[in-house]
Amino acid sequence: STDTVKGFLKRNLFVLFTVAAVALGVILGFALRPHNLSLREIKYFAFPGELLMRMLQMLVLPLIISSLVTGISSLDSKASGKMGVRAVVYYMVTTLIAVFIGIVIVMIIRPGKGSRDSPVANSGNIEPVQAADAFLDLIRNMFPPNLVEACFKQYKTVYKKIVHTRNVTVTLNLTESVNMTDSNLNLSRVLHTIQETVEETVPMSGSSGGVNALGLVVFSMCFGLVIGNMKQQGQALRDFFDCLNEAIMRLVAIIIWYAPVGILFLIAGKIVEMKDLAEVGGQLGMYTMSVIVGLLIHGLFVLPLLYFLVTRRNPYSFIGGLLQALITALGTSSSSATLPITFRCLEENNRVDKRVTRFVLPVGATINMDGTALYEAVAAIFIAQVNDMDLNFGQILTISITATAASIGAAGIPQAGLVTMVIVLTSVGLPTEDITLIIAVDWFLDRLRTTTNVLGDSLGAGIVEHLSRGELQNQDAEVRNSVIEE
Ligand code: ASP
Repeated sequence: STDTVKGFLKRNLFVLFTVAAVALGVILGFALRPHNLSLREIKYFAFPGELLMRMLQMLVLPLIISSLVTGISSLDSKASGKMGVRAVVYYMVTTLIAVFIGIVIVMIIRPGKGSRDSPVANSGNIEPVQAADAFLDLIRNMFPPNLVEACFKQYKTVYKKIVHTRNVTVTLNLTESVNMTDSNLNLSRVLHTIQETVEETVPMSGSSGGVNALGLVVFSMCFGLVIGNMKQQGQALRDFFDCLNEAIMRLVAIIIWYAPVGILFLIAGKIVEMKDLAEVGGQLGMYTMSVIVGLLIHGLFVLPLLYFLVTRRNPYSFIGGLLQALITALGTSSSSATLPITFRCLEENNRVDKRVTRFVLPVGATINMDGTALYEAVAAIFIAQVNDMDLNFGQILTISITATAASIGAAGIPQAGLVTMVIVLTSVGLPTEDITLIIAVDWFLDRLRTTTNVLGDSLGAGIVEHLSRGELQNQDAEVRNSVIEE
């Protein structure tokens, strides 16, 4: 029993440290603000936070692969199939509820009514990404042609512009404005002046930065399924991935000691860096409010209620065990960087079965983003309101579907949701350059929606575990029997 007392103290000490780190970070941040540090000084100051981000990100790749492979190969295919269906149903239902809440709130508050606050930025004549292309990218990313490349590249539609000028045909690669190189711009200007005769723009797949987590998830699941069915022959691989997973979790246990320090500096650094909040008034302020209210309703009432209805257990004590993961999400604004901590909270504090966490958490962190979906819907309708555009029922339905797709397609990295917003906006003909209207507050909303994303994934693991008790017990019995037989 001294062990349990020790464990209890240790857990609560961690939570205490983490909460204290947030408080200290906020105080330190506001204390430093009047000193007007330069960007470079802020970067130096926030360095311990950057290190935490890097350590967590370092673990994500091996963690996703090893946990999914062992998780799935340790279940029989019927059990994993059932568990998978339950998880996907939970993801879909909760994401759609989140979108619905967002739409209702933004329609009630109407943050974008009245004339527009700020002028539209001109993005130049760059081809906007079409919704259809973005959908293809989503599927394309599920099947990476090169696994090694999938560890650092995600596919994204870029445009190829074919320009016929007099006798020469020139092909320009147009990517998004941020990626567009100067030489491309210059060349296009030159071509413009020598009169183009025919011009067409064709979409093609190209790759851009970021881990293709979706592709790795799909591969690891299939791989796990296959080696799970390989009986004796697959034993070596199963042991390998099991051991790899265990080793990574031990690394997490070490890094977690550093987490409060990192979180302190991540938060303080951001507070020193942020623009004056007083500037965020009017429409933008109301928009921010709408997203926050929506996230709070979804995270504090709807998801806990769902958890309670399914499991009949206290959702808030479950959430209490997740505190460290939620605060890490708030500090890093990345659900994938938070993943190692989410694993630990669920397995160590909430005692969720490892076979469940290993299976559903990596998938959840990649495709289940309630907070992001809610935010995409609110932002799109806000932009429609600012443009005085009345949306009909069909358009609102389109926004719900594309907001869901955009949340699935968004990587679990900071502000990924802002990029996938393009799908939602183009699907109903809203100007994509209006994304600039909401950029100023996005870093802040990003932290809150990431926290909601992690909460949704974690409660989902609890719910799936509860629903899968039967299969898990059967599996336990089978293992016991086979041991007795031997
Ligand atoms: N930062 C979010 C996440 O990691 C994604 C988003 O930008 O909405 O969950």
